[in-house]
Amino acid sequence: MRTARFFLLLLLGLILTLGQAGAVSVKNLRVWRAPDHTRLVFDLSAPLEHRLFTLTNPDRIVIDMQNGELQGALPRLDFSGPFLAGVRTGSQQRDTLRVVLDLKRPTRPRTFVLQPNQQYGHRLVIDLYDVSTFIQEQPVQPRRVKPTRKSIVIAIDAGHGGEDPGAIGRRYRTREKHIVLGIARALKKLIAAAPGMQPVMIRDGDYYVKLAKRFQKARRYEAELFVSIHADALPGGRARGTSVYALSERGATSALARIVADRENASDLIGGVRLSDKDDLLAKVLLDLSQTATISDSLQLGADVLYGLRRYAPIHTRVVQQAGFAVLKAPDVPSILIETGYISNPSEEKKLRSRSYQRKLAQGIFDGIKRYVSRSKFRAQRQQVVDNGPRVHIVQPGDTLSAIARIYGIRVDALRFANNMSTTQLKVGSRLIIP
Ligand SMILES: [Zn+2]
Repeated sequence: MRTARFFLLLLLGLILTLGQAGAVSVKNLRVWRAPDHTRLVFDLSAPLEHRLFTLTNPDRIVIDMQNGELQGALPRLDFSGPFLAGVRTGSQQRDTLRVVLDLKRPTRPRTFVLQPNQQYGHRLVIDLYDVSTFIQEQPVQPRRVKPTRKSIVIAIDAGHGGEDPGAIGRRYRTREKHIVLGIARALKKLIAAAPGMQPVMIRDGDYYVKLAKRFQKARRYEAELFVSIHADALPGGRARGTSVYALSERGATSALARIVADRENASDLIGGVRLSDKDDLLAKVLLDLSQTATISDSLQLGADVLYGLRRYAPIHTRVVQQAGFAVLKAPDVPSILIETGYISNPSEEKKLRSRSYQRKLAQGIFDGIKRYVSRSKFRAQRQQVVDNGPRVHIVQPGDTLSAIARIYGIRVDALRFANNMSTTQLKVGSRLIIP
């Protein structure tokens, strides 16, 4: 009798399991707190359909996951942030899992699904933003250069973060996002202690910042240099050393540069998605206006940083590489992306994990920045002479074109071209622009 009941229960269990064969397990929930939003990430066994709506009095967000099935209990979470007061499951309706987020104040949710990456499988993401955040997301107008600036602001951009681990080490499974934040923080200390320089951290914690936002933040702080820090991985485990990249207007300078750019650009697909792409066209037009001049400055900055780094780290590529990095699309700010080393190389991964090596790399980058800044100060002084207006020569009796050109150290044809002259005849008292 007891055996029969046992089998009946077993059969019943089997039917229940079969009935839920299409169920998607909701396995875990993580919370990442960024300064401007809170990100909730549900780990799923497969992609699922979901519906999200907000309710007021009290403020809460309801997520219905079709065919969702909670596996185990929800983990203990940190509710000290500004938005989230609690997470609970609501009444299960048919085969829908309902999750309720209790809120401390009204928020704007954004939701999307993420494809599996090296670390995680399918995920459902809910970002909670402040209600006023979306107003600030307009593209920022190019800043006006202030003539009297006390210190140069340097944006330090630690790559990846939060759901986006970046490259993953071969031996110790080290996450790129942790290494680069360590280097970024060491660099911040050095810059903060240097007279005439001021650091601004684009990311200062374990959360993801969208690529477009990284640059917006730098501009909001009127950064004059932008330094993005990464650590790369290549198959094979033998590659080592650091490389520096600058933006390229068209195409990458090498196949490797293209691979690196593709991977770093894919970051937004890993850590999040761009949902307000409608601003991108306008932003692109603004960016293209003044990009060319900045690229040569970026290459100079990159060369100086490589020079600084070579005292502390092996160099992988001796010249600054160029590629189309989304994060470097800076209109008026010299920007570089540094791959500090290869965490796919076990011995380099070990070094990159250590605080002392992170500090050394930061010192090398800092030395390079300092070198560049002193160089560019000189250039700025020279530029100012030009900015005060074009030089003009008033033709005196007896002047010849070649004599004037000699005085100003320029070529005769340059002088003629600048003044749109078809003859070499000069009129006394006329004004010549000196190019
Ligand atoms: Zn990276």
